[in-house]
Amino acid sequence: MLGRAFGALVDGLLPPRCHHCASPVLRNAWSPFLCTRCAAALRPCYQRLDLGVGHPGRGLLLYTGPCRSLVRALKFQGCVSIGRRFGHAMVPLLESVPPGTLAVVPMPLHWRRQWIRGHNQARAIAGALALARPGAQLCPLLCRMRPTAPQVGRGAAARERNMRNAFALAHRYRGGGCPPRVVLVDDVITTGATMRAAVRCLRAGGARHVWACAAAVTPPSSPTSTLEGDRWRRRDARRCDPVASASADALASSRAALWPVARTTSR
Ligand SMILES: [Zn+2]
Repeated sequence: MLGRAFGALVDGLLPPRCHHCASPVLRNAWSPFLCTRCAAALRPCYQRLDLGVGHPGRGLLLYTGPCRSLVRALKFQGCVSIGRRFGHAMVPLLESVPPGTLAVVPMPLHWRRQWIRGHNQARAIAGALALARPGAQLCPLLCRMRPTAPQVGRGAAARERNMRNAFALAHRYRGGGCPPRVVLVDDVITTGATMRAAVRCLRAGGARHVWACAAAVTPPSSPTSTLEGDRWRRRDARRCDPVASASADALASSRAALWPVARTTSR
């Protein structure tokens, strides 16, 4: 009680700053990370992702504007609490996954990059997702075998080549120890080349079902987007709208083109 009162006092005197526009942050669905206006500008990702790996992938947000700022703060400023917020918000993305035990696997970084960065952003997301989803458990099944060059600026074919044989099962899961049902978690999906390479590795190791999800997805306007433009589903828009369900009022003034679809959905 005292701690909460002290926290409220500190917030009142020194309100946190928005990671996108540096405005003071008041209480909203994405506080203390974004101001109300930037939170309202987040664009949920309603479409499934065509990753070519069996089950369609899912993403929480489109990788634009304030979402990019959140991901950058998570990756490069060590704001792992943003990853935890992403993980909690991503639980509805797994609605189509049948109940039961589920291994939640963070996309691994090469050990050298993780050592330099000090953390793995995908692990922060996956950890929170595993805690919030019944029957799920965080399992670092994968390791990255070599330091792959950054994917930024590469075409789709070059990205696939760059990720070839980049992953392996962690030692303790080799020889048949891979759980059968796996959710693979990353921070951003661009072309899906990294996801595909990781899914192939999990399948080869014995995983029978692999679902892929990410906090952010490159928007449809991008030439590298994996969104399935012809599979728009309003029902999913409603179900997979954790931001709106957390605080519909905070987002009522959103000017994003996707919001009217969510608000007028009848189911
Ligand atoms: Zn802002």
